[in-house]
Amino acid sequence: MSGEQAAQDSGARDGESQAVWDVVVIGAGPAGASAAHAAAVGGRRVLLLEKAELPRYKTCGGGIIGPSRDALPPGFDLPLRDRVHAVTFSLNGRLTRTKRSRQMLFGLINRPEFDAALVDTAREAGAVVRTGVTVSRVEQHGPGVPDRRTVAVILNGTSSGGPGKRDEEVVYARAVVGADGSASRIGAHVGVKLDQVDLGLEAEIPVPAAVAEDWSGRVHIDWGPLPGSYGWVFPKGDSLTVGVISARGDGGATKRYLDDFIARLGLAGFEPSVSTGHLTRCRADDSPLSRGRVLVCGDAAGLLEPWTREGISYALRSGRLAGEWAVRIAEAHDAVDARRQALNYAFAVKAGLGVEMGVGRRMLTLFERRPGLLHAALTTFPPAWRAFAGITSGKRTLAELVRTHPIARRALDSMS
Ligand SMILES: Cc1cc2nc3c(=O)[nH]c(=O)nc-3n(C[C@H](O)[C@H](O)[C@H](O)COP(=O)(O)OP(=O)(O)OC[C@H]3O[C@@H](n4cnc5c(N)ncnc54)[C@H](O)[C@@H]3O)c2cc1C
Repeated sequence: MSGEQAAQDSGARDGESQAVWDVVVIGAGPAGASAAHAAAVGGRRVLLLEKAELPRYKTCGGGIIGPSRDALPPGFDLPLRDRVHAVTFSLNGRLTRTKRSRQMLFGLINRPEFDAALVDTAREAGAVVRTGVTVSRVEQHGPGVPDRRTVAVILNGTSSGGPGKRDEEVVYARAVVGADGSASRIGAHVGVKLDQVDLGLEAEIPVPAAVAEDWSGRVHIDWGPLPGSYGWVFPKGDSLTVGVISARGDGGATKRYLDDFIARLGLAGFEPSVSTGHLTRCRADDSPLSRGRVLVCGDAAGLLEPWTREGISYALRSGRLAGEWAVRIAEAHDAVDARRQALNYAFAVKAGLGVEMGVGRRMLTLFERRPGLLHAALTTFPPAWRAFAGITSGKRTLAELVRTHPIARRALDSMS
């Protein structure tokens, strides 16, 4: 951040905290940055709040598939660490086979770098950014809320009261976007309902140049031993992101899978610089996406591809929609109009991402029952590999493929 920008952001903190913002966005991941950008480009007064200092670490493979690339703000320069042209598939360490493509399949980024750059884009569009502030709750009724068109956002990020004491500060908004990730407080306020929770474990492993060279341009995907689980190696230049994901419930088994996977790859001798875990959550079909003047998007709304647990494109796409509809909610003169705009947001999300999630759920069911079939199809049946390449590169979505391709539809119908 430039000195001028820091001064501007700190001016907003000192002078404007009592003013009513058009839109306050909570959480500065891809969903929040995208929402703040979409709301700010229309000239609205937008405040983006983030509890961490940026750049901040986020447990994530950093795989950027075509739909993520296509949902980036115009002119955004994607900070790619690698371009994937080959995928090595294995079935729990067996039947290893590498498939190659002349076209780039997808890109790989480091999340701290990518997320901070997205926040810069929102800032350049006019959003004011405050980091190091945690939102503890939002209130839409009661003595703390000046009128029915206003939401009170309560922060407790400043600690000038000394150790153990947290000052409470309130900012006011005409509309709020909750983009505070998978453990979302705003999601709880809205009443987001979930029907799938998974545990992802990941290690960032710095490797010598020769090892890095061997992985350059190639990822590894291993269909795992636990139902619905898989593992990945995503190269990022001088380090590899190695992770596994599986249904929450047996953390010990998920950890053993990660350890075995790393050992099988011959990477056990390299000390990870970071080892983390994070839950991913998928919304239930009938889960709300708003309450009053508050919308949720990205992980906070449980918007995530249920099979691959790909979430960056869902965060970017739902974030942009949330930013656009939050502007309309901010302009709504009464509760009925605000509700109409919130329902429009929900409709837009369900018509696009909701349909894709439905197909993803069916793919997960199929994959849980028959991982070997999927592995065989991808590694020995060229149309299946071409479909994989088309989906990751953004030429088509899985939902389009199932809708337009009778064989794919019949296969999914018969299996699930
Ligand atoms: C192991 C793993 C690997 C993954 N790999 C991929 C991948 O390769 N590709 C892909 O597309 N997706 C992947 N995902 C999913 C992807 O990481 C998420 O879907 C994506 O980060 C969602 O973005 P978001 O903006 O909704 O939430 P987040 O990125 O989680 O951002 C939320 C932000 O809100 C802030 N925040 C939280 N609470 C508060 C609060 N109270 N006040 C203020 N700020 C707050 C947080 O600090 C954070 O910065 C992976 C997930 C996991 C767990």
